[in-house]
Amino acid sequence: MSTNRFAFFKGEIVPIADAKVSVMNHALNYGTGCFEGIRAYWNEADEQLYVFHLQAHYERLLRSCKVLQIRLPYSAEQLVETTLELLRREEFRSDVYIRPLAYKSFEGIGVRLHDISDDFTIWAIPFGKYIEKEAGLKVGISSWRRIDDNAIPARLKATGSYVNSALVKSEAMQNGFDEGIVLTQDGHVCEGSAENIYVVRNGVLYTPGITDNILEGITRHVIKQLATEELGLQVVERSIDRTELYAADEIFFCGTGVEVTPVVEVDHRAVGNGQIGPIFSQICSLYYAVTHGQDPKRREWCSPVYNS
Ligand code: PMP
Repeated sequence: MSTNRFAFFKGEIVPIADAKVSVMNHALNYGTGCFEGIRAYWNEADEQLYVFHLQAHYERLLRSCKVLQIRLPYSAEQLVETTLELLRREEFRSDVYIRPLAYKSFEGIGVRLHDISDDFTIWAIPFGKYIEKEAGLKVGISSWRRIDDNAIPARLKATGSYVNSALVKSEAMQNGFDEGIVLTQDGHVCEGSAENIYVVRNGVLYTPGITDNILEGITRHVIKQLATEELGLQVVERSIDRTELYAADEIFFCGTGVEVTPVVEVDHRAVGNGQIGPIFSQICSLYYAVTHGQDPKRREWCSPVYNS
C-alpha cells in the first residue's frame, strides 16, 4: 500500500490513484520531462516539517522547463504554495521526499519539443536515507562518460538524462561498489550518479565547476556557503583530475538525496587513511542543523509546512 495519499495533478490535488498518464504519453516514450527532488525534515522539538530550499528548487525547475520548452502556468512562488498545500493535506510527521515533475503530455508519435502540450505533477513520500552506509562509500570510476552540454545538457534535471545516471549506478553496484563517479567527455571528474562531489586536499575544498557538465546542485552551493562562512575554509571550483581522487585527504558526495555522504575508497584505494575525515564531519553536523531548521541564522532556507 502506498504511504502517500495525494498528488497535485492537472491543476488540483487528487487521490494518488487518480494521478495517471497514458502509455502514449510523450515523456514516457521520449524522456521529455524535467523534475526536482526536494526534501522536507521533521523537527520533533518544533513539531514542524521544514522543506529545505523549496524556492531554489522551483527556480531550477523553471530553468529546466525553459530549455525543454515546457510552459508551466505557475511562478516559483505559486509552486512553493502548492507544495506546502499538498504536504498539509498529507499530514506527514516524518522526513519526506518531494517530487515535482513537468512533462510533455502529448499523446502521439513525433519527437520534438515545440507545439505539444505540457503538464505538471507533484507527489511526495516519507523517505529516509538514500544510501545506507554509515561507514562511508566505496566507489569506482565509471566506464560511462557524463552527457555533454551539447548533447543533453546536464545542468537541467531532465528525465531522459537519468538513463546516463542509471547506467553509472548499476555498473558500479554490479561491480561491487556502492556508487560510481562519472568523468566528463574530456576525462575530468564530474559527479556521482545523482550527487555532486567535493574533494579535500590540504584543507582546501575542490569541486568541479559549472561548465564541467555537472547538475548545478543546490546542496553543492549550500556546502560552499557552510564551508566558507561557518568554517572559514577555502572552496575552489575547478576541473579535477581522476588521480586527484586517489591523492585526496577526504572526498564526499552531496545532494538532496544523499545529503552529505563520505567516500572512503575510490577504485580500491583508500581515501586519506580510509576513515571518515574531520572536514566532512564538521560539514555533516552543520548540514543536519540547517536542514532541520535548527540554525536560526539559516531559518529562511526552511519553509515550515504547518501553521504554528
Ligand atoms: N547531480 C545529479 C546528477 C543529481 O541527480 C543530483 C540530485 N538532484 C545532484 C547532482 C545534486 O543536486 P541537488 O543538491 O540540487 O539535489
